[in-house]
Amino acid sequence: MHGSDAFDAAASFRPEANDRPTRIRVDLDALSHNFHALQAHAGVPVMGIVKANAYGHGLVPVARHLQAQGIGQLGVALVEEGIALRRAGVTVPILVMGGIHAPQVGQFLACDLEVTVSSIAKLRQVEQAAASLGRQAVIHLKVDTGMERIGVHSENAGPLIEAAVASRWCTVKGIYSHLACSDDPASPMTHEQRHRFLDACRHFDRIGAPMPLRHLANSGGVLHFPDTCLDMVRPGIALYGVMPDPASRATVALKPALSLVSQVVYFKVVKAGRTVSYGATWTAPADTRVVTVPIGYGDGYPRSLSSRGEVLVRGQRRPIIGRVCMDQFMVDLGPGGTAYNEDEVVLIGAQGDDAISCEAVAHAAGTIPYEILTGLNARIPREYIGGASSGGPAA
Ligand SMILES: *Cc1c(COP(=O)(O)O)cnc(C)c1O
Repeated sequence: MHGSDAFDAAASFRPEANDRPTRIRVDLDALSHNFHALQAHAGVPVMGIVKANAYGHGLVPVARHLQAQGIGQLGVALVEEGIALRRAGVTVPILVMGGIHAPQVGQFLACDLEVTVSSIAKLRQVEQAAASLGRQAVIHLKVDTGMERIGVHSENAGPLIEAAVASRWCTVKGIYSHLACSDDPASPMTHEQRHRFLDACRHFDRIGAPMPLRHLANSGGVLHFPDTCLDMVRPGIALYGVMPDPASRATVALKPALSLVSQVVYFKVVKAGRTVSYGATWTAPADTRVVTVPIGYGDGYPRSLSSRGEVLVRGQRRPIIGRVCMDQFMVDLGPGGTAYNEDEVVLIGAQGDDAISCEAVAHAAGTIPYEILTGLNARIPREYIGGASSGGPAA
């Protein structure tokens, strides 16, 4: 290729049109279904949790879709996530659930983000920033009822509540806590946490202040403990149609929103006795028909699925053989199995009559579905189907 040809090819390449055959497909209709089903089941408004790139589903497209569906509140972990949503034109109230860093408090107020306040010292930082900007801060108080993460211990919540209610610069919109064991319907911990939380909330009555929104339930709470739903619920993983834990019960019919697909990029016959991939950990017991799939741990597909994971090719479940590489892995097509270049390979999702769930992938990888979803990184293009605007790959 001449230099000028290469230049022309580069000039006509549109990086925004990512045609990589490996992609995440997000079904926005499944997302709407889960949102409305969870809200109906809980009987109170849903705060849609979209932290960590909306559990891998794409922060901005998911938030925009939930906003179009009429959601009244979103929750993120980091102020940076909240800022990204505001920059994308998302206007619904957004709570940042993580702990605040003093130098960042001004950013919350400038971007109209709701702040988590977990101590009197933090309350003072928020007040100071609000006073200097001349803007009222909207806050949710964070009470620790058993996570020992952020939050004032519930038995010491009284003084924080009093100071927040008295604050000239803060509006107390909510009070919340986080459940440690709600994914297990049999755990007694959740009842204990609920009692501690409600005890702390009673301080508002004691000082004659209006009760703010009390929210406690994550996905496990909504699915298993109806009495934790209180005034608002905060489902994350269930919103995406995935169960928090193998012990969880499907008390709400949810639809998985995410599929992870790729395409066959190479076919070969591996001779008996030859080994496959790094470390030569898998040896062909006989001449074996093998395809290569162009996705690896560099995309967030776990290396722990080496010789443990399965994929769907031509409607058949096929094992991953040898180590998952950074960008590729190999699959055994079985005796007589066929596949051609560009054939679809499903890593998560349905093909033909079969499906591989995110939960099953997590189990095979020795982790939880949360880690699988949030690990799928920006190298994989996301494509959105259903919803108001269907089709088309999006960044
Ligand atoms: C992540 C998170 C949630 C959502 O948890 P799921 O188990 O995904 O439903 C709710 N509340 C807080 C404070 C969180 O950090």
